[in-house]
Amino acid sequence: MKKLSLGKLKIVYTEKKDGNMRISSNRENLLKNFNLDKLSIPNQKHTAYIFNINEYRNQEADGLYTDKKREALGVLTADCMPIVLSDGTILTVIHAGWKGLFEGILEEAVSKLKNKEKAVAFIGPSARICCYQVKEDFLQHLKKYNIHVDKRHLRKNEEGYTFSLQEVAKDKLKEKGVNHIVDISLCTICKEDFFSYRKGNFEERILTFAWLED
Ligand SMILES: [Zn+2]
Repeated sequence: MKKLSLGKLKIVYTEKKDGNMRISSNRENLLKNFNLDKLSIPNQKHTAYIFNINEYRNQEADGLYTDKKREALGVLTADCMPIVLSDGTILTVIHAGWKGLFEGILEEAVSKLKNKEKAVAFIGPSARICCYQVKEDFLQHLKKYNIHVDKRHLRKNEEGYTFSLQEVAKDKLKEKGVNHIVDISLCTICKEDFFSYRKGNFEERILTFAWLED
């Protein structure tokens, strides 16, 4: 488990050795280290829906947001991107694979912020261009969703391409006026420290969560 401080924004992400964070008792044990009352996680389904935690009743969603201090929000991932976004007033935490990303979950998250100039975005451990293999037919999604790609996003190899979800996320953030981006640059597929769906961890998940201090 690693903790980062970006001013009043606190971010924690877990590693394989912390256990499968899909199991609630593992999350509860972890939370004891941080003196937080609770941790909320959405009912993740690769959607572009995000909810205010006050109004959230476990609908399908891939992100939560809050304006309350010390309200911890998290997502479970194994190759998809955990993204934390905050302007110091609003905190949003989302889960984004290609589908949610292309369908606009990040734009949805940015729209909840009050002050984009002050915003910081964090991109956590996830599958990256070194390893994230896509086939030729993936290109049709890029076309359908009008996703700009160049050599930062797509690299040709024998089996098709490797793709960078993170570069698409950065483009989208910058387009919406969020320029302060902290990318942890850790790949869940080639780094042994994380669970990876692509490598056969179908049930196991790492957890990324965040909160704002007073
Ligand atoms: Zn890799």
